[in-house]
Amino acid sequence: MPFNLTGITNFFSGVAQKPIKPEEESHITEGKNQLKVILSGIKEGILILDTNGQILLMNETAANLLGCTPQSTVGKKLDQAVRLIQNTTDVTSNLFIGNALENVKIQTPENIAKGKEIYVNISVSKIDEKTGFGWLVTMHDVSYEYGIEQMRVGFVSVAAHELRTPITSIKGYVEAFTDDYGDKLNEDQKTLINHIKDNADRLASLVENLLNVSRVERGTLSLSTEEVNWDEFLKSIVEDLKERATEKSISLMYSSPASQLPGIRIDKVRMSEVVSNLVSNSINYTSPNGKIQVWTELKGSEIITHVADNGIGIPEDAIGHLFTKFFRVTKGLTQQQYSQGNGLGLYISKEIVTMHGGKIWVESQVGKGSIFSFSLSIS
Ligand code: ADP
Repeated sequence: MPFNLTGITNFFSGVAQKPIKPEEESHITEGKNQLKVILSGIKEGILILDTNGQILLMNETAANLLGCTPQSTVGKKLDQAVRLIQNTTDVTSNLFIGNALENVKIQTPENIAKGKEIYVNISVSKIDEKTGFGWLVTMHDVSYEYGIEQMRVGFVSVAAHELRTPITSIKGYVEAFTDDYGDKLNEDQKTLINHIKDNADRLASLVENLLNVSRVERGTLSLSTEEVNWDEFLKSIVEDLKERATEKSISLMYSSPASQLPGIRIDKVRMSEVVSNLVSNSINYTSPNGKIQVWTELKGSEIITHVADNGIGIPEDAIGHLFTKFFRVTKGLTQQQYSQGNGLGLYISKEIVTMHGGKIWVESQVGKGSIFSFSLSIS
């Protein structure tokens, strides 16, 4: 007898279209048993819901993940049986909007009582309405991987915090030393001290980036926004970076918009990291005598900021990876250009812009230059 889903459907949903004959009942029981065997053999947690989100069926793995028994749970609506938490947000109702959620904590009274921390990747698919079922929810247990990942994130955060103090002290001593003895040093000694200073600065920037990455990964990167005059704000950041550009004989220009921009709410510290990162990158990846321009435009309800350079440009195949963690273009870079960064700036910038509700993108041509742009909504 082939597996009969409709029979099972009717059985579970209690739909009795016509009185069930004894031979039909045995088919239903057989079908039900087949379904049980199939579901119990699946390593993933499986929940079958009706179109209203009521749990019709669950396998043993799902019961283990929820910390409950099928008897106590089947018949409840999903949101009565379980809360799905991603970072700190309740995403239970998002389940039927998107079709996949990652690293979701299964919060049930049973799991809380037993102190169980269960994390799953969930995918949801709609079942053909004709079957009488609504949704198939598949849960893949990732608690172990999640635990390891949390340890890694925690380790990076602690290591970065611990490195901050000695680096600050190295920088402080170098500064004090050059203040006291700078004019007594010969050229070789000055070069040596400058190397120490540059490397301490690079290390400090790496540590700050790692701290920001771990804040993003832990969901603790928060914004403290206030209304600013974007034109003034940009102008002052660009002004602060002019010295670095001049050292490399690069012209760095900021053009104010023709008409006044509306007010905008931003986290000044975080946004200055974004702008500084884009402009610093342009300085790093542009040859001496190059040109960098920063300007804004108002488009509908958004302010778009552009940072353009006529530097080395970015190969087309790298553009899709630019905003991911630790990605750096290696092709065609000199050792000096390559050693300047750590591949975290654009990843962090994208997170910060996204947290502000904006988007960041780039247009670039190898050998011609790049234009990095990002949008921010006006308040
Ligand atoms: P990094 O610290 O390496 O600069 P980012 O995340 O800021 O890290 O940038 C990632 C990579 O993108 C850089 O290593 C570089 O290869 C490329 N890149 C970023 N900005 C530019 C630019 N203006 N011109 C050319 N390449 C760039």
